[in-house]
Amino acid sequence: MVSLAIHGGAGGDGPWKGPTDLDPQRVACMHNVLVTVGSMLDSGLDSLEAVTIAVEMMENEPLFNAGIGSVIAEDGSVSMDASIMRGSDNAAGSVVNVTKIRHPIRAAKMVLENNWPVMLNGIAADEFAIKNGVEEVDQNWLITELRRAQWQKWKDAKSRPGSTDEDDGAILDHDEGMGTVGAVAIDKNGVLAAATSTGGMTGKPDGRVGDTPIIGAGTWADQSVAISCTGVGEAFIKTCAAHEVATRLRLGESLEEACKNMLDMVAPLGGRGGVIAVNSEGDIQVPFQTMLMYRGFWKDGEIMTGIGPNLNSH
Ligand code: ASP
Repeated sequence: MVSLAIHGGAGGDGPWKGPTDLDPQRVACMHNVLVTVGSMLDSGLDSLEAVTIAVEMMENEPLFNAGIGSVIAEDGSVSMDASIMRGSDNAAGSVVNVTKIRHPIRAAKMVLENNWPVMLNGIAADEFAIKNGVEEVDQNWLITELRRAQWQKWKDAKSRPGSTDEDDGAILDHDEGMGTVGAVAIDKNGVLAAATSTGGMTGKPDGRVGDTPIIGAGTWADQSVAISCTGVGEAFIKTCAAHEVATRLRLGESLEEACKNMLDMVAPLGGRGGVIAVNSEGDIQVPFQTMLMYRGFWKDGEIMTGIGPNLNSH
């Protein structure tokens, strides 16, 4: 009954226009994550390490907005947030605005394993991670051509933060794309875990913290459910969105209802987005209210991925 679900971000308005030229690369990454980490879970890997590896693999994909290929802040730099939680004992770890490590999610897991404190911020988080063996990288390595083009477009248009995050067309003729990444899983021992990692939003002001590193907002796991959210973070913070799903389950809603009703609470606050969830039965939900959400899951050896409204089996 092991299950794994992943997302690569939600976004966009209106009907889905079909895949962009860059989307096959994103789907191939998700498929690889599901095959690799799904079978590791099946062979007995614990869910906390499984979601960490899944997110690391997506942090390595430059087309997702996490690790290399993170979106660029107002000042032209990359800063990244990540958090992770284990459901069996509410252990949690988070790093905020790290700028020089390859794998923010590995750093968040190290914070969790260190037991105290739960959150580390900025240079102290970078230094903690590097001291514990997370690969150090420089800003030029983290910044890709696509993200620089999106940032330039955002700057030229004097747009709101995040307005070009989905714009593959910043260098191509198409729209869309996205990027925050997350994973939720249940392992053979019935332990649930959730992890989320992001570069935030293009043009974000210096010091901005989104929902991704906030336990209960972007990420949550307890003994009944594991959740990873994506969308405009401020609205997910204001609604404690990830934890809201757990609350709704306690009140008797089904997993499907709890996820949908949470997204309905977030949307009026300007945070249309998506969520991935797995419960203690291994049931999976991957709903979203935007044009698209890169998503996929592995369950009993069956793999599904999707971008627009439909899921495809592999
Ligand atoms: N939630 C992320 C943030 O606000 C962005 C996203 O999921 O696209 O930083």
